[in-house]
Amino acid sequence: MSYPDGDLRDQLAHVGAEAVRTGLVIGSGGNLSGRMAGSDQCWITAAGSWLDRLEPTEFSLISIPEGRFRDGHPQPSSEWRLHTETYARRPDVNAIIHLHPQTSVLLTALGYDIALITSDHAYYLREIAAIPFGQPGSVELAVAAAEAVAGGINALMLDHHGCSVLADSVELAHKRAVNLEEAARSTYAALLLTAGRSRRVPQVPEAFLEAVGRGEAQV
Ligand SMILES: [Zn+2]
Repeated sequence: MSYPDGDLRDQLAHVGAEAVRTGLVIGSGGNLSGRMAGSDQCWITAAGSWLDRLEPTEFSLISIPEGRFRDGHPQPSSEWRLHTETYARRPDVNAIIHLHPQTSVLLTALGYDIALITSDHAYYLREIAAIPFGQPGSVELAVAAAEAVAGGINALMLDHHGCSVLADSVELAHKRAVNLEEAARSTYAALLLTAGRSRRVPQVPEAFLEAVGRGEAQV
């Protein structure tokens, strides 16, 4: 099946359904947004929505960065600032996937880095940053997250909470979110296999990571 095109809400609903179906997240653990390139508004999932049952009416069109929404639109997710603060600092980003994926969150809470073990992990993620715990939905957390990715990082862990994954399209953000949790599951398995002897799991060769950084790598 090809990726749904057209309306951002259809693409985001596809992400939500697939994220729950594949065990990336449990039903309501996260929120999703997308904006048309160059727009000062974004569509974001409504407060309390279930990710695997997103209808077009469960999205709110909000202003960036104030979060104003139109009459008749549902109340946006309580974490809307996490999206708008990042859009305000990253004009190249048009989709933000914020999920609470269990293995990524567990490893980060235990102080382990998520290793880029395969060429796919390296190609899609390149670098994973992490920030300390902040109150979900707070201005402080949204600003800290936005500042952490302002330099171009597209995969961020929010300690004891979740991830924020960015891209210029919903499809690429989805691929990054899938690869982030897959990298975390592989890292978790590697730590078990080495019985915790090494806190640093071997990554792809540095030369490949450098090629990814130069935009010269393929997978
Ligand atoms: Zn959250």
